[in-house]
Amino acid sequence: MPRYEYRCRSCGDTFELSRPMAESSAPATCPSGHDDTVKLLSTVAVGGTAAAPAPAPRAGGSGGGCCGGGCCG
Ligand SMILES: [Zn+2]
Repeated sequence: MPRYEYRCRSCGDTFELSRPMAESSAPATCPSGHDDTVKLLSTVAVGGTAAAPAPAPRAGGSGGGCCGGGCCG
């Protein structure tokens, strides 16, 4: 049975639950009894409360992208 990680927005705790995939998005209750939880995606490790990390600035961005201008092949 797959394990899913959840985070409680009430106490900020994170916990794992083993549950069927069909119930992966079902509400989970944190060990402290709060039900205001969100499921964390195992492939997207988000730390803190930032909504989305800013994209990295373009490297060597002085006048057009390299691979977009045809100079790479
Ligand atoms: Zn909690």
